Amino acid sequence: MNLELSEEQAAVRQLAKDFVDREITPHAAAWDRAERVDRSVVKKLGGLGFLGLTVPEEYGGSGGDHLAYALVTEELGRGDSAVRGIVSVSLGLVAKTVAAWGDEDQKRRWLPPLTSGDAVGCFGLTEPGTGSDAGSLATRAVRDGDSYVINGSKMFITNGTWADVVLLFARTGDAPGHKGVSAFLVPADTPGLERREIHGKLGLRGQATAELVLQDVRVPADAMLAPEGKGFSVAMSALAKGRMSVAAGCVGIAQAALDAAVGYATEREQFGRTIAHHQLVQELITDIAVDVDAARLLTWRVADLIDRGEPFATEASKAKLFASEAAVRAANNALQVFGGYGYIDEYPVGKLLRDARVMTLYEGTSQIQKLVIGRALTGVSAF
Ligand SMILES: Cc1cc2nc3c(=O)[nH]c(=O)nc-3n(C[C@H](O)[C@H](O)[C@H](O)COP(=O)(O)OP(=O)(O)OC[C@H]3O[C@@H](n4cnc5c(N)ncnc54)[C@H](O)[C@@H]3O)c2cc1C
Repeated sequence: MNLELSEEQAAVRQLAKDFVDREITPHAAAWDRAERVDRSVVKKLGGLGFLGLTVPEEYGGSGGDHLAYALVTEELGRGDSAVRGIVSVSLGLVAKTVAAWGDEDQKRRWLPPLTSGDAVGCFGLTEPGTGSDAGSLATRAVRDGDSYVINGSKMFITNGTWADVVLLFARTGDAPGHKGVSAFLVPADTPGLERREIHGKLGLRGQATAELVLQDVRVPADAMLAPEGKGFSVAMSALAKGRMSVAAGCVGIAQAALDAAVGYATEREQFGRTIAHHQLVQELITDIAVDVDAARLLTWRVADLIDRGEPFATEASKAKLFASEAAVRAANNALQVFGGYGYIDEYPVGKLLRDARVMTLYEGTSQIQKLVIGRALTGVSAF
């Protein structure tokens, strides 16, 4: 096994590193306080090709493999998880899903603007009453001539107020549970679609998270992505790959925690020498470093499996489970290294901890990942 990056992968990683150090990290604290990332960042991400990774070039994508995608996502996560989330959703959950499931017209219409950053996508699965049990969603799309009329609401939608297109999941037939779910590409300016930004989040404050309310939203029948009744498969396939990008973002958080902890420990003095001399501080730092490496290797394994066309869903759940819990641990350990200063907004580790905290909740909670992994191991479904 060779873990050495190819020239192309190393170059894209360096490009992302430089971009993050220059354009993201210096602004992350201010965007967090303002609860708004500067929207111009989206076009910059598009210009660098970061919104088109793994998407075929004929649709405006920048090609690249999943390891390159993971490397870029890690770097963005190191800089600001609010920015990383824009990419994970607009590219990871929406554009990649259109590329995988869309017909020619849908790909030609949506992929060029999504990959260039001229448009932003959001993923509308969760509802006020259905989170982990997404297959029971209640939003309904009813066929009316050549169109569908959609009614319902969606909760906690990342990019919700910024999005130009919603990959929306709604119940079409009478089939129970996930079998009755279909996917639609709904332009966000369709009459009847109202978006309400959610403020006061613990972390990811710079990210535009919204509730979507749909009242008689009419879309042409060709807005349906994939055949009728296949919506849940579309959602699950998107989330399986999405888990790799969340895991990579978590590696970025843990790496940022490690960098901050080492930097502080080698400067701050107590008892006449830097705190790095104290063995218990070294233990905190070592624990972060092991978490970084383990989470990164699990994430790279998923990328490798996807790129080789092998099954990867269980490994993606393992990587997401471990990396998200590791990011929380790492940020918490870094905060401990900073002592009381870690608790103050002026230092970066508090934000890392707040941003990390949601990673064990979205795109499948840690409990749900354990059930997915348990099902693969035992053949018994606990759902
Ligand atoms: C900042 C943010 C951004 C988000 N972005 C998006 C987005 O872009 N698109 C989208 O569709 N959704 C998004 N979500 C929603 C997210 O995916 C859900 O919050 C998540 O799936 C959990 O659903 P829930 O909050 O309804 O919790 P619930 O499903 O109500 O779970 C509550 C608790 O019960 C546990 N639980 C539930 N079922 C079981 C079970 N069978 N066994 C054991 N434990 C169980 C859960 O693990 C959790 O601890 C986002 C959420 C947040 C906070």
